Amino acid sequence: MAVIPGDGIGQEVIPQAVRVIQASGANVELTGFDWGADRYLRDGVTVPADGFAMLGRDYDAILVGAFGDPRVKTNIHAKEILLGMRFKMDLYANVRPIRLLDAALCPLKGIEPKDVDFVVLRENTEGVYTDAGGVFKQGTADEIAIQEDINTRKGVERIIRYAFEYCEKHRKADGSPRNKLLMCDKSNAMTHAGGLWQRVFKEVSGEYLKITAQHMYVDALCMQMVRDPRQFDVIVTNNMFGDIITDLAAGLQGGLGMAASGNIHPGRTSMFEPVHGSAPPIAGKNIANPFGAILTAAMMLAHLGMTAEAAKIEAAVLEAVRQKKTTQDIGGKLGTKEAGEWIEERVSKSGAN
Ligand code: ATP
Repeated sequence: MAVIPGDGIGQEVIPQAVRVIQASGANVELTGFDWGADRYLRDGVTVPADGFAMLGRDYDAILVGAFGDPRVKTNIHAKEILLGMRFKMDLYANVRPIRLLDAALCPLKGIEPKDVDFVVLRENTEGVYTDAGGVFKQGTADEIAIQEDINTRKGVERIIRYAFEYCEKHRKADGSPRNKLLMCDKSNAMTHAGGLWQRVFKEVSGEYLKITAQHMYVDALCMQMVRDPRQFDVIVTNNMFGDIITDLAAGLQGGLGMAASGNIHPGRTSMFEPVHGSAPPIAGKNIANPFGAILTAAMMLAHLGMTAEAAKIEAAVLEAVRQKKTTQDIGGKLGTKEAGEWIEERVSKSGAN
């Protein structure tokens, strides 16, 4: 397994995830890589030659922290490493589980943990993130900027199909089936791209009759997410809407410090990362919440079939939240390292498999 902590708080939270993986007894070999701002500033390398091919060939999975450093104004390294992995390794499904572990973490009134347990599946290789477009007559009064939203039949179909398959294979925390798939778009305004998503969703839903197919415009979905998150089960959407709604959704589960994600291409080396970025304002202070990274590690182990180890880690995080053995952002008094050590100890005590 490759481990790339990256920049900022990535360098603080990933070591905690690593100690927890080791405590879980998971049979994995971890190899660290120094890709990130420091390396880029030192030798100008963002991704070493053949880097992505090496990751795909030699590793089962990749655990990543975050990229972004104020010293690299262009953020070129973040783009080349993170978007490079998603695009060049074709990790087309960004899986972001949204689960509330304790009522105290949710800013909404009267919401219980069982009320927030849904998953957002974000298309990860197309949309506006392809950087297609350009600027014409830059710096003049006649300047024109065009940002293209790329949606291919193949790209839309495979993420929608992945979403239906995901529903069939996964269950909620309470054991009930995931049997509702909601496609979110803005097809009333973005008619061309939205039209393609609508047609493909309708067509593919015909093959999965046990799953209820639903639709919501992204603006309505944002309102519904804060009015009544109970109604959501699995949501599939494009790259940009997925980016935006998962920050909102992270707010329901205790903030960015709690959110985990996987970047997946079934059957290939996939990459797992906490949803948060490098958070420069809090970096180096031992205050970043490591639970998003630790839950990400659990997600990675589950993806690789180590479900017992993953369950032990999740149970320990749940207990830490209940006992307030957490960082300050979610109400505790521990530092990043101390919160990681608490989970490590709890996981090692939870016994061998
Ligand atoms: P990116 O563009 O890379 O997604 P961003 O600038 O949108 O990053 P983050 O770097 O994720 O955002 O962080 C934004 C703010 O959220 C941070 O400054 C911090 O206050 C808070 N935050 C993010 N992650 C954590 C964490 N793990 N623990 C505590 N607070 C966090």
